[in-house]
Amino acid sequence: MAKFTWVNKDTCISCGSCEEIAPDIFEYDEEGLSHVILDDNTGSQEVPEELEEDLIEAEECCPSESIKVQDVPFTHKVRVGE
Ligand code: SF4
Repeated sequence: MAKFTWVNKDTCISCGSCEEIAPDIFEYDEEGLSHVILDDNTGSQEVPEELEEDLIEAEECCPSESIKVQDVPFTHKVRVGE
């Protein structure tokens, strides 16, 4: 099943966990907040299958539940919770 992801920077606490677990998916921006490298944190690009395990582990380990994952691309509407 395809996976799509983005980080809610409003709740990210810069703990460092996701980049350590999945460095090919997550990195930090200039403010020290995590974001998704693959699609500039838009949740629009499918995560490569070989990285899915890392993604799920990072999601489960995120202490602030900031890593959002679903099986279809995220839309702006979903992201802002409208
Ligand atoms: S694991 Fe969660 S809280 Fe920690 S840096 Fe990543 S997104 Fe932010």
